[in-house]
Amino acid sequence: MNQRVIPLADERQLRQLPPVPAELVAPSGLLLDSRGRPVKDLRISVTDRCNFRCVYCMPKAVFDKDYAFLPREALLSFEEIARLARIFAAHGVSKIRLTGGEPLLRRNLERLVAQLVAIPGMEVTLTTNGVLLPKKAPALKAAGLTRLTVSLDSLDDTTFRAMNDMDVPVADVLAGIDAASAAGLGPVKINMVVKRGMNDHEIVAMARHFKGSGHILRFIEFMDVGSSNGWRMDDVVPSAEVVRRIGEAFALEPVDPNYSGEVAERWRYADGSGEIGVISSVTQAFCSTCTRARLSTEGRLYTCLFAQSGHDLRALMRGQRSDAELATVIGQIWQQRGDRYSEIRTAETAALRKIEMSYIGG
Ligand code: SAM
Repeated sequence: MNQRVIPLADERQLRQLPPVPAELVAPSGLLLDSRGRPVKDLRISVTDRCNFRCVYCMPKAVFDKDYAFLPREALLSFEEIARLARIFAAHGVSKIRLTGGEPLLRRNLERLVAQLVAIPGMEVTLTTNGVLLPKKAPALKAAGLTRLTVSLDSLDDTTFRAMNDMDVPVADVLAGIDAASAAGLGPVKINMVVKRGMNDHEIVAMARHFKGSGHILRFIEFMDVGSSNGWRMDDVVPSAEVVRRIGEAFALEPVDPNYSGEVAERWRYADGSGEIGVISSVTQAFCSTCTRARLSTEGRLYTCLFAQSGHDLRALMRGQRSDAELATVIGQIWQQRGDRYSEIRTAETAALRKIEMSYIGG
């Protein structure tokens, strides 16, 4: 038998109720973890399904026709998501990113956007592969979305089709970016995950294409998320190399961060034709300023992208717990947070069974 077996960290069947303390504590708007990091961002996976099978994220060998995606009733409803979002807002969250899986596959997503933008002071955005934007961009804009991020790993059709493994042409994503701009959702951030030997030959071509377009291209180091992508350190193209390669083609200057804790390091073209960003999750860990919580498709709270287990908030909500109880539980979980995975990454930790990105939300 030479079939490849990939063990997944599948804790979807485990249902451990987070304990609800007897004494309830009201949110103060500033919730710090054990390393003094506030909770400010919430990433919400609205579906574990995707219309791509990117080889480094949802490889077909695992996510095939027999893979059991979550049933509809397991997913948090929009009302449940909005309820949790309001509680997180009370704890200090001011930015929500909808993701997945492919978030635009979730039917009527714009209704959720409308509920989330109604939370005072909340900035809402989403990350998408872009192919459904020609259909969805106007409704998302009308619902109150102001900007979004599109993932695009290559401009070369052969490379791109091989990476998404669903034979989707680059033109479909470019049409999605145009549709987002036309709907008033620009400038669009474009994320390119760089994997050595797969698409690193495309770095300068991508930079050239988006230079002067008004969109902001960001290069992301290939990470050891999940357990199915066969990650090796040798596959990572360090951001410093990305900047060097682009700098050899176009003069670049560093730009100050927009705010403290910004994960992308910014560079601008010296001729004024825009900027790029690099996200060095592997070579320059930013755990010390990480303010992100993650909510999985079925309502588990994760305090790190590389977590091995989460906290079942859905069970509490469906168990008729009050907002005050949920807020107290969330407060306690965050206060105990000590995660700093990327700072302590080794070949051994990379081999641990971690939660898949499509489930926890990229
Ligand atoms: N389907 C949406 C999309 O394509 O943007 C949202 C979900 S996807 C998991 C979010 C982002 O995570 C994408 O930009 C994807 O390229 C990135 N991603 C997935 N696996 C990754 C990995 N191993 N390392 C770095 N980024 C990864």
